[in-house]
Amino acid sequence: MRSRHIGNHTVLKSLPSVDELLKGPEGITWLSKYPRKIVLQAIREALSLNRQALRDGSVTVFSSDKLFSEITDNLQKLSAYSLVPVINATGIVIHTNLGRAALSEKMLHNIVASGKGYSNLEYDLATGKRGKRHIHTKRLLKQITGAEDTLIVNNNAAAVLVCLNTLAQGKEVIVSRSELVEIGGSFRIPDIMAASNAILREVGTTNKTHLFDYKRAINKNTGLILKVHQSNYLITGFTDEVPINELIILGKKNRIPVMYDLGSGCLLDLKSHGIYTEPSVRDIVKTGIDVVTFSGDKLLGGPQGGLIVGRKKYIQKIQKNPMARAMRIDKLTIAAFEATLMEYMDEERAQQTIPVLNMLLQNPEEIRKRAQRIASKLKKEIKNARIEIIKDTSRAGGGSLPNTDFPTYAVSIKPDTISVNELEKRFRSGSPPVVARIKGHSLLLDARTILKQDISGLISAVRFWLAEG
Ligand SMILES: *Cc1c(COP(=O)(O)O)cnc(C)c1O
Repeated sequence: MRSRHIGNHTVLKSLPSVDELLKGPEGITWLSKYPRKIVLQAIREALSLNRQALRDGSVTVFSSDKLFSEITDNLQKLSAYSLVPVINATGIVIHTNLGRAALSEKMLHNIVASGKGYSNLEYDLATGKRGKRHIHTKRLLKQITGAEDTLIVNNNAAAVLVCLNTLAQGKEVIVSRSELVEIGGSFRIPDIMAASNAILREVGTTNKTHLFDYKRAINKNTGLILKVHQSNYLITGFTDEVPINELIILGKKNRIPVMYDLGSGCLLDLKSHGIYTEPSVRDIVKTGIDVVTFSGDKLLGGPQGGLIVGRKKYIQKIQKNPMARAMRIDKLTIAAFEATLMEYMDEERAQQTIPVLNMLLQNPEEIRKRAQRIASKLKKEIKNARIEIIKDTSRAGGGSLPNTDFPTYAVSIKPDTISVNELEKRFRSGSPPVVARIKGHSLLLDARTILKQDISGLISAVRFWLAEG
């Protein structure tokens, strides 16, 4: 090791300059591997920390070897991506913080295929004239939902905003007090209402809203009756809400459109899976509703998007709103949606090929087998933790199916030498990072959301962390 121990002032002066470092053998190697901007930043950051440490006396010896290794670390950090794949061991399938829906190979393939070069995004190949970007998803979406017309915008928050602005700008929108929801990431119905220039007209109470509450609120400035899915909470006990078909009759009688913000929006019939609480979008459309909005990356299992389906006269009006232009989706999203929606043409295939549906509807026995496979591999390697399989429940997440428990199996790891919080932290900071959930003194790896391709990465990561003691 090349190091010198001399007076503070002299040591400071002995720090190499950026230029000297760049011209040295190490500098030449760095420049051959990394962009010049990153090399400069890595050197400057390391030099500045060293200068600081020498100045305040926390370090008295300057070591060039140490400086070089700090610069190398900086280079790795500065050239790494910030957005990285993560192993989701939480069991929450539609985890908003972890990117909601995982996309299938087919969806990704279509994104690459249409993103690589040019496409007929807004070009009619038959006539050679300008085409419309929305036609690529319209036919499928109409067929799947039974709606007269459809439109996709940037996300469901945008969908609600543009619908309210188009249908009720300057007018009152009647909403039950039990449905003034806040979804994570600051989507709040009253705020969206204000941003759209519509006037919120709350009716009923938190637990009960009756048809007469809606009736009484109607006046000549009423623009819309809005129903909002209570996505992420439940009101139970002494409760009452007005069924959607009664609202539709009321709306028709008074010539007021009725809209339903479904939030998640399921394109499958879940009744055959024993889930009766979430009607499909098709069922909702069948009631004769005017406009329905829902997310693309919740239960649907596609990319981020806000789907608007319903009556042609309203959808066309919404599409003409300049806001809709500002919220339009890009070609990669359209490619992902078209590939996703195509899978729904065969519901049974969709359950296999769309990762969200596959993870949610998989047989608990399959989950148990996967947990078993992970656990037995871990047991062979790890001696300083108790590893077992436990039965537990997982949730859909993303405000979807809030009252449905999905039976699952998890690998429970109870470390002997470190705390469960420390273990959880190590999992998060590894490569790949693993996000798991703590239950008591154990860390649970819920096998529901651990993808096949994640297993080997997970095993080596766990082995590495526990081996550290
Ligand atoms: C999730 C949700 C939204 C927001 O949808 P994004 O696609 O996240 O913008 C709006 N309304 C309801 C009821 C929701 O559940």
